[in-house]
Amino acid sequence: MALLERLERGLAELDAQGLRRRRRIADSPCSAHMTVDGRDVIGFASNDYLGLAAHPLLVAALVEGARRYGAGSGGSHLLGGHSRAHAQLEDDLAEFAGGFSDAPRALYFSTGYMANLAALTALAGRGTMLFSDALNHASLIDGARLSRADVQIYPHADAETLAAMLDACDAPAKLIVTDSVFSMDGDLAPLARLVELAQRHGAWLVVDDAHGFGVLGPQGRGALAHAGLRSPNLVSIGTLGKAAGVSGAFVVAHETVIEWLVQRARPYIFTTASVPAAAHAVSASLRLIAGDEGDARRAHLRTLIERTRMLLKATPWLPIESDTAVQPLIIGANDATLDIAAALDRAGLWVPAIRPPTVPEGTSRLRISLSAAHSHTDLDRLEAAFSVLPGARS
Ligand SMILES: *Cc1c(COP(=O)(O)O)cnc(C)c1O
Repeated sequence: MALLERLERGLAELDAQGLRRRRRIADSPCSAHMTVDGRDVIGFASNDYLGLAAHPLLVAALVEGARRYGAGSGGSHLLGGHSRAHAQLEDDLAEFAGGFSDAPRALYFSTGYMANLAALTALAGRGTMLFSDALNHASLIDGARLSRADVQIYPHADAETLAAMLDACDAPAKLIVTDSVFSMDGDLAPLARLVELAQRHGAWLVVDDAHGFGVLGPQGRGALAHAGLRSPNLVSIGTLGKAAGVSGAFVVAHETVIEWLVQRARPYIFTTASVPAAAHAVSASLRLIAGDEGDARRAHLRTLIERTRMLLKATPWLPIESDTAVQPLIIGANDATLDIAAALDRAGLWVPAIRPPTVPEGTSRLRISLSAAHSHTDLDRLEAAFSVLPGARS
């Protein structure tokens, strides 16, 4: 009983601090218009940036993949679970997202969380100094911990401070790790400068492109293509459950890096390979992303981003300057953030309140996530709801 009481006290504390989270149940596919907890809402919560999660071609590819390969993979990639669908997808990903490397190869994972654990634990270890942006995603933080490397946190997007840290570091192995697009802020890492530093100091640069892949760069090839960067020091990670609309993730890098991961990365080796049909559907998604339809969706998304930036500037709160589909509005206190999210919810708008520990204390925010599935009529609704919130200018 004492054991349970301790947890109950912990949960009560979360309640008191406005930090208790609640899961909502979706009864419809992920899209701009959804049925959630039995009500019709406009969703601004997903990372389905291109609106592909419910695309009929991807649903059909998933069905076809299941017919061809069955439901489950049956084993880990090294022990019988590696299917033709996985192998084909890895070739497709290397071709599509590996333009920064002379000899790119890709490795497909069940989730981005695992891809990050795998990349960091395989490339860093005791004796490595790992330099991590202060706002990196939790999975990168956990990967750094699991790697047992020494970790230095540099201030967010501050390449100059990082340069000084690298100058002062005499560790035999160095690794820099950063989000490309920061998941709760929407801003971009100074990638060109980071590549320069990585090369000068003989460091790996691991870039988590979860929010750039599919959205940024020519044909949606991602943040590194967007910045036109090439380097043998680069290791890029993309997730496939966001803009790609399915699930899974990949690491793409020089073929030697990938071979090392296959041999050494425990989060790759000791887990069952994902459903092959998912890989089959991701290959179909890549064709959509790279084609005219992807271009059209990215262009529409761009108009939604521009309009949302203007709309948020007209509120009394603090939008973070963001040129991406992630549009945060900083409210500050947890309670106030929850109140505003609740008021938007009453207006039929699902805008999640993001609180610590996901973001730093005192910077609780609404995270408005845009998708090519949204229409400008949806933004009219958002604009109208903001204009009647208590505290809003009339
Ligand atoms: C979502 C996300 C991940 C994790 O990817 P999953 O496929 O959802 O496990 C990793 N890094 C960043 C920056 C993310 O936003």
